[in-house]
Amino acid sequence: MQHRLLRQEIIDTARKMNAAGINQGMSGNLSVRLSDRFLITPSGMSYDGMRPEDVVEMSLDGRVIGMGKPSSEWLFHRDIYGARYDVNVVLHAHPKDATAIACLRRDIPAFHYMVAVAGGDSIRCAPYATYGTQELSNHAIAALIDRRACLLANHGVIVLGDDLSAALDLAIELEALAAQYLRALQVGEPVLLTAAEMAEVFERFASYRGGHKRQPSTRGY
Ligand code: 13P
Ligand code: ZN
Repeated sequence: MQHRLLRQEIIDTARKMNAAGINQGMSGNLSVRLSDRFLITPSGMSYDGMRPEDVVEMSLDGRVIGMGKPSSEWLFHRDIYGARYDVNVVLHAHPKDATAIACLRRDIPAFHYMVAVAGGDSIRCAPYATYGTQELSNHAIAALIDRRACLLANHGVIVLGDDLSAALDLAIELEALAAQYLRALQVGEPVLLTAAEMAEVFERFASYRGGHKRQPSTRGY
């Protein structure tokens, strides 16, 4: 079996996703690009009992290499790697607060400056489509244009990263933003930042710890 360490890192990150409270049970899935292939978590398996050999290797044309049943969402993972050369990791989860907003089919607007960490002045909510379908993948790709995160209507979130820890950090940040937005909505309609105010944030981010667009991973995947 190749990539044992990386397979273990995928499992560890999936477990962290649940431990951090941004996912639960067997929901969600996680993948890492390997040049013209990717590794992806298997379908319907608990992360606790998952072993490196359970992680599935796939080609970008959608063939399983070796054994295993890939995540039912392999289509959007594959399509994102095809469309987004800036991305090495795709994380999908069902976090409570972000999913609540996705069930309202609302974008997360610029209610807080940290919305900029996802790459723009909103975090879009992709229209609803059945899980595992090409239609869902198409909606996700569109919602992720110029962004590293989106909501999926009545479903959950997708977060992109240069590496596993960057994707996990952004997913945790997204859930914090979603909780803040929901809390503000309970009292009234949050005041949104203007395009000019967000532009200033992007300028500052560009010189802050490498900015929201992190440097490419140096870890060889
Ligand atoms: P898988 O177990 O097949 O990855 O499905 C989980 C999920 O979140 C589907 O959207
Ligand atoms: Zn899902």
